[in-house]
Amino acid sequence: MSIAYQLSFVRGTLPEYVTLVAVSKTHPAGAIREAYDAGHRIFGESRPQELREKYDVLPKDIEWHMIGHLQTNKVKYIAPFVSLIHSVDSARLAETIQREAAKCGRTIEILLEIRVADEESKSGWELDDLMQYLRTAPFAQMPNICVRGVMGIATNTDDWEVIRRDFRELKRCFDLLQPNFGARFNILSMGMSHDYPIAVECGSTMVRVGSLIFGERDYSKQ
Ligand SMILES: *Cc1c(COP(=O)(O)O)cnc(C)c1O
Repeated sequence: MSIAYQLSFVRGTLPEYVTLVAVSKTHPAGAIREAYDAGHRIFGESRPQELREKYDVLPKDIEWHMIGHLQTNKVKYIAPFVSLIHSVDSARLAETIQREAAKCGRTIEILLEIRVADEESKSGWELDDLMQYLRTAPFAQMPNICVRGVMGIATNTDDWEVIRRDFRELKRCFDLLQPNFGARFNILSMGMSHDYPIAVECGSTMVRVGSLIFGERDYSKQ
């Protein structure tokens, strides 16, 4: 199946209010170009250098989302152009994004990544730590950051009940956090190729779909 076909298939399964981020990590610029030519404009990547290289060679009206774990020393590669950073999981990272955004004279939109999965390997804030941090009103001192919502990843399992539990927990976190922010706090980023229909049922407003659109990733070619 072609990328254009898969894209329109996935789009067709989503309510209109849900934003589709096409996750193009590890796939070449040509694959992104195919999706672009089919009319898609929002792409997600998980490595800053790879994101930067693709930005350089592809049309400038693409909205680039950083979805993977971001090290503070790599923020500078993407700060000049990134549209949304989904994976803000620490105070140090937020403060670095603030500094780099100020240097570029921009405001960068971010999501707060919250850890709900069973696996230790998943990153993200613990809700209690995040609540504690928010008590110091940190974002009032970060004028170059706009917090748009919450992002999370469900446990990697075929047990739908566990996945549903994780997504419900993310929605609960979103609802708890919302009063700390303004009206623009309206994005709940959750759901990937295998679990996005459940995420949408649980209140997702943004899904991040990779392999279902671009095919399986081949990490051996990296
Ligand atoms: C890779 C990735 C995705 C997309 O995963 P697929 O299973 O290919 O849809 C979504 N979110 C994050 C954070 C990712 O790293």
